[in-house]
Amino acid sequence: MRIAVASGKGGTGKTTIATSLALAVEGRLVLFLDCDVEAPNAHLTLKPNFVLHQPVHRLVPRVDEVRCTGCGHCAEVCRYHAIAVIGSKVLVFPELCHGCGSCVTNCPEAALSEYGRLLGVLEAGSTPTGITFIRGVLEIGEPSATPVIRQLKKWAVTPEICPQVSTSETVEIRDAPPGTSCPVVETLRGADFALLVSEPTPFGLHDLRLIVELVREMNIPAGVVVNRDMTSDGMLERFCVDAELPILMRIPLERDIGQALAAGKPLITVRPAYTAAFRDLFERIQQLESRSIVV
Ligand code: SF4
Ligand code: SF4
Repeated sequence: MRIAVASGKGGTGKTTIATSLALAVEGRLVLFLDCDVEAPNAHLTLKPNFVLHQPVHRLVPRVDEVRCTGCGHCAEVCRYHAIAVIGSKVLVFPELCHGCGSCVTNCPEAALSEYGRLLGVLEAGSTPTGITFIRGVLEIGEPSATPVIRQLKKWAVTPEICPQVSTSETVEIRDAPPGTSCPVVETLRGADFALLVSEPTPFGLHDLRLIVELVREMNIPAGVVVNRDMTSDGMLERFCVDAELPILMRIPLERDIGQALAAGKPLITVRPAYTAAFRDLFERIQQLESRSIVV
């Protein structure tokens, strides 16, 4: 069972929900993936002990100026404008390169070779409660989060990380980046259920609409958690009814919850009553997911 916790907007409390869900699930092996590689922060709550580290590289071209004739074929075949030929000089823009290798394959002089450019690092370990925890950390200034997330997901299912992942008892929880761009799409890809965290504000509703559009496009069943719940105009609820999206949980806007979360305490530690609520949430997710398969 793979659950992606996402929201169209940052700061809605995705990590709060994802970490408490991971802590509350009983009798299962839990694999937690912090896919918010630009700003991973779930470790602050779950406190894993990282013991494995793996760099993520992308192959980008390097020019042998002695061999290069300045013919320009490499720039012609690059769909991403990551290589340009000006006069007889070849310029490579590594940040734009997608590592497709077309330029290297099409260079008639074999003047291009590839080297691994560091995009980020993956780290894995266990939390004090036995959750297998993996995160990706993007290099500072690196714009390509998606390949790091893709590699993180691949690494997560290797025996090195979790020999038991193939069992049906494993629950994989992915803490997604904010928004609806490519890194979020990559996090959602392959998920069995999307748990969408929103808040009852106009901004929250606007961004919920965007992420709902995305999960519908990807054909992933979804439900909503309303975080920082308060008196509102009811727009979010009306949207959920119209979109046939179940609201699975509500967490009130209360100062002591916010203070405890800011201090790195899990929600279910601050409010133990939520342990049962998160177990119920997991049950509902399982039911909704199995119903979507039957349909
Ligand atoms: S295709 Fe090869 S030879 Fe031609 S400009 Fe590019 S690097 Fe130089
Ligand atoms: S590897 Fe692909 S994306 Fe990168 S410069 Fe060459 S053609 Fe462009």
